[in-house]
Amino acid sequence: MVEFKNVSVVYPGGVDALHRINLKINDGDFAFVVGSSGAGKSTLIKLILKEVNPTEGEVCVNGYNLSTLKKRKIPELRRTIGVVFQDFRLIPTMTVYDNVAFVLRVIDAPQKYIRSRVPYVISLVGLTHKAKAYPSDLSGGEQQRVALARALVNDPQLIIADEPTGNIDPALSYEIVDLLKGINACGTTVLMVTHEHDIVRHFGGRIININAGTIAFDEVIGGGNEG
Ligand code: ADP
Repeated sequence: MVEFKNVSVVYPGGVDALHRINLKINDGDFAFVVGSSGAGKSTLIKLILKEVNPTEGEVCVNGYNLSTLKKRKIPELRRTIGVVFQDFRLIPTMTVYDNVAFVLRVIDAPQKYIRSRVPYVISLVGLTHKAKAYPSDLSGGEQQRVALARALVNDPQLIIADEPTGNIDPALSYEIVDLLKGINACGTTVLMVTHEHDIVRHFGGRIININAGTIAFDEVIGGGNEG
């Protein structure tokens, strides 16, 4: 669950990036976050990850009150969140398998768990046949699916996808959102930032529109994918 109560962010220099935001995303929700460049979308995401602190107001994420969260507890918060970036951020010298396994190795997960969990999440994104490939051997869409497997491997409560289709062929973009929808159907909360109006219109659902640091609207719209 993500909750913003009266949250403002003023950056050094006086930029009023977010202004008195109230927002609640319940467990199991899927929401698109849209808005023009500079509207405050990245700031919203950075608040959820506690990369930025609010100037006023309170942010709660997955049971953590971020205002009172000790610095040493921040990694614990972040382990409840999987993040997918526009530029994939895979490690080029590691295979698909190792890119995903790496997340579990750094937290000292048991070998046995790694050996069962990693192939499972790679299969969820349909890349079992590419497990031994390197990122440079994959298409943009496939690389983003690896990034999605990596975000999922630690079984997070929340997935944040920051413009995940920005570097992908439009036809393959829908597959990525379909995967996110499938992950959401299994109970994971998904927050997807996007510029792509076609995608939002196609899938529909909850749309949070940020404009100049405020929520311009937060509504559920019907998708156009039925017909
Ligand atoms: P978006 O992700 O929607 O493009 P951002 O959250 O990145 O918007 O930015 C919101 C506003 O805050 C913009 O005016 C931007 O220039 C400003 N901003 C973002 N990060 C910083 C920073 N570290 N220091 C100062 N201003 C910033």
